[in-house]
Order: sequence, then structure tokens, then C-alpha cells
Amino acid sequence: MRNIDLINQVTSEAAGNWPYILQSLSIDVPDSPRNHAPCPHCGGTDRFRFDDKGKGSHICNHCGAGDGLDLIKKVNNCDTTEAAKMVADVLNIDYRTTE
Ligand SMILES: [Zn+2]
Repeated sequence: MRNIDLINQVTSEAAGNWPYILQSLSIDVPDSPRNHAPCPHCGGTDRFRFDDKGKGSHICNHCGAGDGLDLIKKVNNCDTTEAAKMVADVLNIDYRTTE
């Protein structure tokens, strides 16, 4: 599977499942978009909110906003392809097959 196909497939299959995916990757996010929490990437006490919107949308007052893959990239200090592979493992998407 090409990396861009993997990223596209992961993004579509992950939609609506980000709280479960992030929990599976040991990334703590608050249950409610109204809750302020420490940022999984840069810490603090109340700088982070997770509003999800089905795509893992989050905002940190210190390191910025993004979607679920962005959060995994920040926490694990990896690129988009590596983040997508982590999500693929959680969702049992087989990215090792070739066409
Ligand atoms: Zn942060």
C-alpha cells in the first residue's frame, strides 16, 4: 500500500473512533470538549482541549491545534506515515499487503 493510500484509509476508518484509538496508544485526552486538561505532548495543567468532531480535533494553547494524526505525531515525535501505521495497527488495517 502506498503511504498516501494508507493515510487516506486510516483517516476515513478512524473517523468517529479517535477517543478509542488515542486511548489504545496511551494518549490521554479529556472526555468532554469543555474539559481542560494537561497536553499529552507538552504538559501543563489545563492548556489542552479535545473537541474531536469525529476527526480527533484538539487544541493546545502551547503547541497548537490539529487532528488525531497530528496529535500522535506530536506525542511520538514521528511523521504522518508512522502515525498512520500506529492507527492502522489499532484498527487492524493491513498496510503490509502490496497490490
Ligand atoms: Zn501542547
